[in-house]
Amino acid sequence: MAAMAALTLAGAVLASSAVVRGNALDDLERTLRENLQQVSMDSGSFQAGEDLRYYQDGVYTLVYSQSQALLAGQVPAGFPTTGQPFENGVIRTVEEGGQTYYLMDLFYPHGWEDGVWLRGVMEAPRAGRTVNSLLTLGAVVLPAFILLCALGGFWIARRAFRPLDQIIDTAAAIGEGADLTARVEVPRGNREFARLGAAFNQMVERLEAAFEAEKRFTADASHELRTPVAVISGACEYAEKFDETAEERSETMAIIRRQTDRMSALITQLLSMTRLDQGVGEEELEPVDLGALACTVCAETPCQPGRLACAAGPGLWVRGNPPLLARLLQNLIDNALKYSPPDSPVEVGGGREGERVLLWVQDRGPGIPPEHRERIWDRFYQVDPSRAGAGGAGLGLSMVRRIAQLHGGDVRLESVPGLGSRFTLALEAVRPPEEK
Ligand code: ADP
Repeated sequence: MAAMAALTLAGAVLASSAVVRGNALDDLERTLRENLQQVSMDSGSFQAGEDLRYYQDGVYTLVYSQSQALLAGQVPAGFPTTGQPFENGVIRTVEEGGQTYYLMDLFYPHGWEDGVWLRGVMEAPRAGRTVNSLLTLGAVVLPAFILLCALGGFWIARRAFRPLDQIIDTAAAIGEGADLTARVEVPRGNREFARLGAAFNQMVERLEAAFEAEKRFTADASHELRTPVAVISGACEYAEKFDETAEERSETMAIIRRQTDRMSALITQLLSMTRLDQGVGEEELEPVDLGALACTVCAETPCQPGRLACAAGPGLWVRGNPPLLARLLQNLIDNALKYSPPDSPVEVGGGREGERVLLWVQDRGPGIPPEHRERIWDRFYQVDPSRAGAGGAGLGLSMVRRIAQLHGGDVRLESVPGLGSRFTLALEAVRPPEEK
């Protein structure tokens, strides 16, 4: 700002000096030409008209004979009387005693050989009033103005950045104390800071939710693992004290085996969940025929003959990871078989819906009451834990949703209590590999 102000001032000074100089030269020429109108010669001698002004507007007019003798007029004090050759109609500058003079001559001819010289002399105006006031402004007002601007700017900047300070303080507090419940006050008025504040709060909210989910998951996982461990430890204690016959021992062994199987299944599921949390890389995806994959999974699922039917035809191409998609389908099929009566049919079907491939698993089981439909996707959530049977820990559907999300798709549930449930997976369709 200081540099800009100084430049502006310098420009103004230069411009006003040029104007002052231009005005002075105009005055000199105009006065001299007006006086030339007043000159006449009578029988070889110079005659001054009535209106000839020897001094006007700072211009001294001198009249010289052709032999350069001063005939009339007063040479301004300090101006050199000799050594200034005459030049008709040309304005020159003469320096003398630290003063600059403007000089102009006009010749008044008379006859062939006679005539007089009119010489105009004028002191070049020193820095004019405008320049002086500009310089005063530069010297006094400008520093004050810059100081005022700097203080004002500092004050405005501090006020404007206060919300940012608050965001920084909150971020630091969260970092130090890990208090994820803290939120920044979203400033009103300032659009950028309001957006930053809102984005920050949203980020912390998501962090808090993730952190809470993580805590819940750890608590639930340890609880689920602790139950079989407690059963095994109880069975061992009982066997040590009371099991005497080989039959009793083999009963206890069976309990222990069931519980270790349950634990082993749970650990496998937990490991797959962790694996899924890391995401799936683009290089792990390939064209998969979802219809064919579903029928393979059905064929490999042990169940009562004729209970499970695959009506999904081949040619439902999507881009995905075959083992993960097989796991998703297996979880849905296992649930359908597990939660519906042993003799009720389970059907797997598929088709196209616009640009998407749909694949559904339908059962004629008890259905899922509306109040549970949102929560069944949560980890460890079970509608009725007592009905879960061996191996169920409430992780199956959260895995299903996660796998669908990793493939850019979704799963939805339609269910009529008492009539059954239909879980539908929707993924973006791709062209079959050979057509590419
Ligand atoms: P689980 O290991 O208990 O089967 P899931 O995450 O697969 O866990 O399922 C969560 C809950 O949703 C189950 O406990 C069950 O109550 C309900 N559920 C899932 N599938 C069905 C279905 N086909 N019919 C009825 N209820 C179901």
